[in-house]
Amino acid sequence: MSESIGTTCVQGGYRPGDGEPRQIPIYQSTTWKFDTSEHMGRLFDLEESGYFYTRLANPTNDAVAAKIAELEGGTAAMLTSSGQAANFFAVFNIAGCGDHVVASSALYGGTYNLLANTMRRMGLECTFVAPDCTDEELEAAFRPNTKAVFGETVANPALAVLDIERFAQAAHTNGVPLIVDNTFPTPVNCRPIEWGADIVTHSTTKYMDGHGASVGGAIVDAGRFDWLAHAERFPGLTQPDESYHGVVYAERFGLEGAFITKATAQLMRDFGCSQSPQSAYLINLGLESLHLRMAQHNKNGLALAEHLAAHPKVAWVRYPGLPGDSQHELAQKYLTGGASGVVSFGVAGGRAAAEAFMANLKLAQIATHVADARTCVLHPANATHRQMNDAELAAAGITPDLVRLSCGIEATEDLIADVDQALAAV
Ligand code: PLP
Repeated sequence: MSESIGTTCVQGGYRPGDGEPRQIPIYQSTTWKFDTSEHMGRLFDLEESGYFYTRLANPTNDAVAAKIAELEGGTAAMLTSSGQAANFFAVFNIAGCGDHVVASSALYGGTYNLLANTMRRMGLECTFVAPDCTDEELEAAFRPNTKAVFGETVANPALAVLDIERFAQAAHTNGVPLIVDNTFPTPVNCRPIEWGADIVTHSTTKYMDGHGASVGGAIVDAGRFDWLAHAERFPGLTQPDESYHGVVYAERFGLEGAFITKATAQLMRDFGCSQSPQSAYLINLGLESLHLRMAQHNKNGLALAEHLAAHPKVAWVRYPGLPGDSQHELAQKYLTGGASGVVSFGVAGGRAAAEAFMANLKLAQIATHVADARTCVLHPANATHRQMNDAELAAAGITPDLVRLSCGIEATEDLIADVDQALAAV
């Protein structure tokens, strides 16, 4: 039976049997007990599925991962300790020293740093392309050692919308998968796998949790990318893994399971970026109301964008759901559920005016966080990008007057009233 996304939000991933707990149990145990060493050995050899140590796998985490896989329309998923870990694992699972990836330049700052600096130190090079680059520019970014294309469905904080179909086509023509960070839209607003993405990642810290309660991440595999058809490019999946007694992931676990099994068995084993089952439980509570919350985030985001665009003290507004916005056409195609609650805008009067505006807000709270049930604001020039002068900010695409407003799920009229009184005081 195919069910709607709202039903999957509530019931996906965990369907208890007769007499079993209705809510996902928290398996607060590091380890599992066995009657014989042979039995445990079969699990270690990946010959039998089961649990033996929470760093590799835990039933609470698996139930929540299964729900996220269902929501995204994937075949397998895993939770990670953070969104950063999810993006690192998604790339490093198939690309390492001597390899290369192509990425959209409109990315969350942490992800940009991961690809541009930290992974470069590990021997992996990244070519950044503008999300609105021409097909020729995109094609020219590929090299013989390219292993993946990476982008964010809606970039944080630039709010650029990725043309997923176009980037997927370029990736597939070059024999590599497209990895999409779908944190801002969530599967309620966009399901990148339906547009050709092969791997989807999340910072579940944001809308999925939704309550600012737990840091976490997730990776979902669409189960479609044919690693064996590009066997030489992806030896980690198509040749024996000597650290696992010669298992060939793509052969043993098929297209639908190879990527996540390798990331779990190898990367989680060696890096240990596992999520606590307590956090997984909290994320699941958030997921149960994701579809309802996203509807209100979308409504508030659009209403605030429209209101700000008409306000004399506002210099400019960026919101993909706003007619006339440079991203509106792409948003109409990909963000079928709505354009989320995040609006970027400039306060007339520049940096000082932006600071004064934020100091006068009463409902909206100043926080580095974003995509939360409670409305929050950030002035990047004063916070995340504080070390830059105005010229450096301009180069990074962040104007001194830019305010990132993350509309929560409060009543729309109260958010508008708060913004109005804060602007009046500027
Ligand atoms: N991806 C996006 C789009 C983000 O906005 C963030 C954080 O803001 C991350 C990844 C990193 O996630 P986390 O903070 O959970 O590590």
